[in-house]
Amino acid sequence: MKRLPSLFVSHGAPTFALEPGLIGPQLTALGQVLPRPAAVLIVSPHWMTREPQVMTTARPRTLYDFSGFDSALYDITYPVDGSPKLAARVIEMLRAAGWSAAEERARGLDHGAWVPLTYLYPKADAPVFQISIPAHLDTTSAFEYGRALAPLAGEGVLVVGSGSLTHNLYEYRAEHGRGEAYAAEFAGWIRDAVTSGDHKRLVRALEIAPHARRAHPTSEHYLPLVIAAGAASDMLPATVLDGGIVHGVLSMDAFVFGMQVPQAASENPVARMMS
Ligand code: ZN
Repeated sequence: MKRLPSLFVSHGAPTFALEPGLIGPQLTALGQVLPRPAAVLIVSPHWMTREPQVMTTARPRTLYDFSGFDSALYDITYPVDGSPKLAARVIEMLRAAGWSAAEERARGLDHGAWVPLTYLYPKADAPVFQISIPAHLDTTSAFEYGRALAPLAGEGVLVVGSGSLTHNLYEYRAEHGRGEAYAAEFAGWIRDAVTSGDHKRLVRALEIAPHARRAHPTSEHYLPLVIAAGAASDMLPATVLDGGIVHGVLSMDAFVFGMQVPQAASENPVARMMS
């Protein structure tokens, strides 16, 4: 079986489901060039629990875990199969790595999972399940949590960390306008660490990267990036998908760890897929 890379995606605001921006078409093109996964495992900060939980739901519902956004969002559903069998395998794998992992049989997909999936696999034809983020994780243990999932890449499971490369909701603006320079600077520093395959810098970024505290007043939307880096059997080669900055402060960058996506696909995905 072909080894899969792992991904980090920024899910921005729930309205990303209605506004593809720069990154939506690139995620769609990516979904077409990745080896076909047996299942997609998503880890999102919108499911945090005391200890790790793994969703074994056969047919997960679409959760609308937000309020105050466009009513059109509530009309979108992501009808997809779960993967109870591979989820059970993940429970086994986490326990073997020393984590206590429990089954969650009724959980649906939160917006951190289904919103990016509407672009990555728009036909909802790849089974999906989630694992929670343990509330006690810091960036060091997040990397270890990802490490425990690394064998999945060889078993047909695409591990996706869904967060936000920058995430200061105190500065969020409804309109897009010009992106804040500090958010671009932080994102650039992270891109450099990603393309250098430097997981140590990713683990320490919230202490040492420029504007880290402003980009991430809390760490939960950053942790999925470190988990995805840990889940890659090798971070390199890495691909950066430039998602730009939306709502003034939310970087929408996505990263592919362990696979070089053809350059044209990341620069002009639609033209490439049509040609
Ligand atoms: Zn979020």
